[in-house]
Amino acid sequence: MAKLESHIPAGPLAQKWSRHLFESKLVNPANKRKYEVIVVGAGLAGASASATLGELGYRVKNFVYHDSPRRAHSIAAQGGINAAKNYQNDGDSVYRLFYDTIKGGDFRAREANVYRLAEVSAQIIDQCVAQGVPFAREYGGLLDNRSFGGAQVSRTFYARGQTGQQLLLGAYAALCKELAAGSVQSFTHTEMLDLVVVDGHAKGIIVRNLLTGEIARHVADAVVLATGGYGNVFNLSTYARQSNATAIWRAYKRGACFANPCYTQIHPTCIPVSGDYQSKLTLMSESLRNDGRIWVPKDPADRRKDPNAIPESARDYYLERKYPSF
Ligand SMILES: Cc1cc2nc3c(=O)[nH]c(=O)nc-3n(C[C@H](O)[C@H](O)[C@H](O)COP(=O)(O)OP(=O)(O)OC[C@H]3O[C@@H](n4cnc5c(N)ncnc54)[C@H](O)[C@@H]3O)c2cc1C
Repeated sequence: MAKLESHIPAGPLAQKWSRHLFESKLVNPANKRKYEVIVVGAGLAGASASATLGELGYRVKNFVYHDSPRRAHSIAAQGGINAAKNYQNDGDSVYRLFYDTIKGGDFRAREANVYRLAEVSAQIIDQCVAQGVPFAREYGGLLDNRSFGGAQVSRTFYARGQTGQQLLLGAYAALCKELAAGSVQSFTHTEMLDLVVVDGHAKGIIVRNLLTGEIARHVADAVVLATGGYGNVFNLSTYARQSNATAIWRAYKRGACFANPCYTQIHPTCIPVSGDYQSKLTLMSESLRNDGRIWVPKDPADRRKDPNAIPESARDYYLERKYPSF
């Protein structure tokens, strides 16, 4: 029976991770080049991790089964990225973003990690802007925000309906800088087939070159799996067919714990399946979300009427009636 140990640092919620950062042993800059890190995946998680570790001075090898790091499924994300910047002065704070995220995750997420996410959210936006991500701006030039995901504040930073694509281009640019500097090596068309575990620690991977079929092994001091979500367990999710969870499955077979497969990206705003040619659910533009209002006729007899002929007083805005605070 596996022992579950989350390694959440000790201390009060708001200090757990910042204290841990201070208490962790530092690696001298000159020593960093002695350590090698394997990162599997180059979506927003893997590209950022590789670029950051490379910039810090570690030697990084990045592996993807796509033909380019830019093909990662992060490119599909549309709506935006939340940050507690409170630009709108509408009552947002790190604690409110933490609270909303815990609630939105059905109270199943680890509180300390969500708090950390909320805490660094503001810096992530600054980082992305510095990388050149073209977030939407108001006419005055300031960054714009959407109200998203049932939040009562506007804290979502977005780039039209293609935020994931723009963020991925930013992360990819940072990765390219490290590729050019030689701190990161990129292996595309390369599938991780197995994880090498030594004394309970992941120390390497076995890969197959998808063009030549050649099988090879790579060793490192640490392995980061940033291989995306558990998509296709449900037939029609909004994940691409290629998000196939193979890396997670192989790590699981080597003893990694696997939890919450129910956390799969399903969007309520999808175009319904209307033929054999549609192999997955296609997302409607998230630019449409939270704009407009939803209503039905109060009198069922009015259902067949031209909607424009139904006066305001005869419309039932049922969501607003049932959830007045939202
Ligand atoms: C349609 C859609 C809309 C979304 N909208 C939003 C949004 O508005 N806001 C938001 O915050 N989130 C959104 N999300 C969620 C968010 O996009 C994802 O959670 C996030 O981008 C995942 O990033 P990742 O780096 O973990 O994985 P991915 O981008 O999926 O990258 C996985 C990487 O792992 C590699 N890989 C996987 N398996 C292997 C293997 N066996 N061997 C080698 N390489 C492997 C792949 O090549 C790829 O590079 C959306 C998701 C979808 C699908």
